[in-house]
Amino acid sequence: MSTHVVICGAGFGGLELTARLSAAFGNDIKITLIDKNDAFTFGFSKFELMFGRETREEVSSYYSTIAKPGVEFRQELITSIDPAARRVVTDKGTYDGDVLVVALGADYDFGATPGFVEGGHEFYSVAGAMRLRDVLPTVHSGDVVVAVISEPFKCPPAPCEGAMLLDEYFTARGVRPDINITVVSPWGIPIPASGPASDAILARFRERNIAWVGNQGVSSIDPAAKTVRLKDGSTLPYDLFLGIPIHRVPAVVEASGLAVDGWIPVDRSNLATRFPNVYAVGDVTSAPVPKAGIFAESAARAVAEHLIVQLRETGTAKPYDGAGSCFIEFGDRKVGRVDADFLTGPSVVAPFTEQSLQGAQEKKEFGASRRRFWFGG
Ligand SMILES: Cc1cc2nc3c(=O)[nH]c(=O)nc-3n(C[C@H](O)[C@H](O)[C@H](O)COP(=O)(O)OP(=O)(O)OC[C@H]3O[C@@H](n4cnc5c(N)ncnc54)[C@H](O)[C@@H]3O)c2cc1C
Repeated sequence: MSTHVVICGAGFGGLELTARLSAAFGNDIKITLIDKNDAFTFGFSKFELMFGRETREEVSSYYSTIAKPGVEFRQELITSIDPAARRVVTDKGTYDGDVLVVALGADYDFGATPGFVEGGHEFYSVAGAMRLRDVLPTVHSGDVVVAVISEPFKCPPAPCEGAMLLDEYFTARGVRPDINITVVSPWGIPIPASGPASDAILARFRERNIAWVGNQGVSSIDPAAKTVRLKDGSTLPYDLFLGIPIHRVPAVVEASGLAVDGWIPVDRSNLATRFPNVYAVGDVTSAPVPKAGIFAESAARAVAEHLIVQLRETGTAKPYDGAGSCFIEFGDRKVGRVDADFLTGPSVVAPFTEQSLQGAQEKKEFGASRRRFWFGG
């Protein structure tokens, strides 16, 4: 009987692992891929949605189109995970895996920040980005604050990208002179892993009059007074507050006992959890890499290699390299790139390629190639 791999979550990590295992084993493996949604959306597609550049339909890749040997997709809500038994229970059934992989990403806790739900907006969820699409055209003047409430958060460059794209958007509408844009971050520079990328972002901020408030966080929002209270007790006025919400593991992961101090600890060489034949990849883990799709993908690749060696009982798998390239939108259709390597050397290496129109083309191809590999026949 073939090995049954149960993969919880069909995001960056789950899709990459599914495609790799299917490519290696075909019908000689049984993969059950479970996600509560009917479609995958790239994190960066939220920018397309919020600025009305693409529709929800255009940014959706439907799981029903996955055509891969050995793979069965189930659109179901996972309600419990028993890592010792490798048993997953959903709203529709129960799955027992020989191997279990948790790739459920990070959830948002909007309610944890007083005033956020009542007085704020966000572009970190599809629903939030869709709401903003209708709100942004009503903004003609005032203070726009893009604030990271606390770390960890997904995609380190995304708050700065949001600010640079807002600058471009308001400029195109002719209202930019009447709008102040401020970015609040818990970090001293935009991307601590890459000095050159941070320098490029801060240079663009200076050029476009975007204010940077580093080493800060948000304690609360006062929708009546229209102020943001920062961690040091000071306040900032706002007319439009765009918050990067507090991130947590999904409740089902919390209840499973897999998480320790908030996230799932994993062996950094092969992403194994402390439960036999149970792995975790991506944002749901405390692996020493940023929470970003590209690292979820490289982690999934490492697990795939590890499982291929284990199941074929031959060869050796390379340890997880924690490497990946992150694209950064600078506005004016220009995209830069950071090529980060977190784990292979004694320290992090993250050179930056300056923003360009060619970078935008590369980013487009990046998305298209993933869609082909994950969903194609
Ligand atoms: C605005 C923005 C821009 C970004 N830009 C980039 C970028 O340019 N490059 C980059 O690399 N990353 C980017 N990211 C980050 C990236 O989207 C995430 O880090 C990445 O998706 C994480 O992959 P994952 O597989 O760990 O989790 P996810 O992709 O989040 O997948 C988790 C899956 O689990 C499912 N799930 C959760 N709970 C349950 C449950 N109980 N039952 C069933 N299914 C469940 C979810 O539906 C989801 O499909 C961006 C994020 C944002 C918000």
